[in-house]
Amino acid sequence: MNTKRVYMDYAATTPVKPEVLQEMLPYFTENFGNPSSLYSFSDETKEAIITARKKIAHAINADKSEIYFTGSGSEADNWAIKGIAMEHKNKGNHIITTKIEHHAVINTCKYLEKNGFEITYLPVNEEGFISIEDLQLAITDKTILVSIMFANNEIGTLEPIKKIGELCRERKIFFHTDAVQAVGHVNIDVEDMKIDLLSMSGHKFYGPKGIGALYVRRGVKLENLIHGGSQERGKRASTENIASIVGIGKAIEIATEELELESERLKNLSEKLTISIVDKIPYTKINGPTRNKRLPGNVNLSFIGVEGEALLLDLDLDGIYASTGSACASGATEPSHVLLAIGLQSELAHGSLRLTIGVGTTEEDIDYVAKKLSSIVERIRKISPSWKAFIEKKDKK
Ligand SMILES: *Cc1c(COP(=O)(O)O)cnc(C)c1O
Repeated sequence: MNTKRVYMDYAATTPVKPEVLQEMLPYFTENFGNPSSLYSFSDETKEAIITARKKIAHAINADKSEIYFTGSGSEADNWAIKGIAMEHKNKGNHIITTKIEHHAVINTCKYLEKNGFEITYLPVNEEGFISIEDLQLAITDKTILVSIMFANNEIGTLEPIKKIGELCRERKIFFHTDAVQAVGHVNIDVEDMKIDLLSMSGHKFYGPKGIGALYVRRGVKLENLIHGGSQERGKRASTENIASIVGIGKAIEIATEELELESERLKNLSEKLTISIVDKIPYTKINGPTRNKRLPGNVNLSFIGVEGEALLLDLDLDGIYASTGSACASGATEPSHVLLAIGLQSELAHGSLRLTIGVGTTEEDIDYVAKKLSSIVERIRKISPSWKAFIEKKDKK
């Protein structure tokens, strides 16, 4: 039985850091007061929320009055897009997004499409970048919102956020960015980048699951998503999830302090991982952009003649936890919409592997994964009909 465990799926979720958990614990037990209550016992929880809000605001150069807590990153995305759509539908019914968004954005847009909105899904180039010209051409006098992700969760592409922000500000169109993969990992300045709304999620930067936040620039009006009590200044009802709010605040504080050093370390390790895999495994395709234009911890590769699912199962046997581009829907595996959007052939998209590294990743892990992966790919290819066909075709040439 293999006992080594190497987690390489940090883009899916991250563990809560011990310092984060320590800060959260008292709010489950002794400090349980409802912040909406008037007695002094609740002062502690009220203060804790203010402190967390300040920490989040500080990390993205916002003001604390511009931060609203939500139940997740998905909720923040839903709220930003539906909230702007509902509030400003009299001005126009057109929204621009991209073909490579997370499902929290894509499916929200699809929902609005069924309800009278028109959505433009911008294409991307082979590295996953939108073009500013395409965006410019897509804008009409009915456009009320542009929603473009900060960093792609599959291939790590960092979109030209500042340029998008400047264009939207100039054309007086709201700009939302799903920054769930970016917050805590790359520098974000909502003022400089001219961002109006930004979504984040605690569990993608070593905070707890089930807590997110939405930044809403002062003066930007949006309809509520959750109606009820007057929490979050009347914009998002429900008794505050204090422990998780404290957790996301502590997590973003640590991530911000460590960002520069940790992102350099991860960039170097990602590069090393990519190079050693490409060295060991012939016909490996690197998906996504080069070093400084992608998330520090993201590696995405395709192997000709190899099914992603088979790869994941074999990696699991060696204690390696990773992710593939395809999602299994009703028995048939669909290749990832992101990999198809960057122009990968369906077959290559099926043979893709996402390795995302993080705080626990060591040099030794990199060597272990590269070595195991190369023997697994070799084994799968030996019995793969599509690999055989590829080699025969190549030899004929
Ligand atoms: C994880 C993720 C989300 C969803 O966040 P949850 O907190 O899990 O709902 C949204 N967008 C992107 C880009 C993500 O990676």
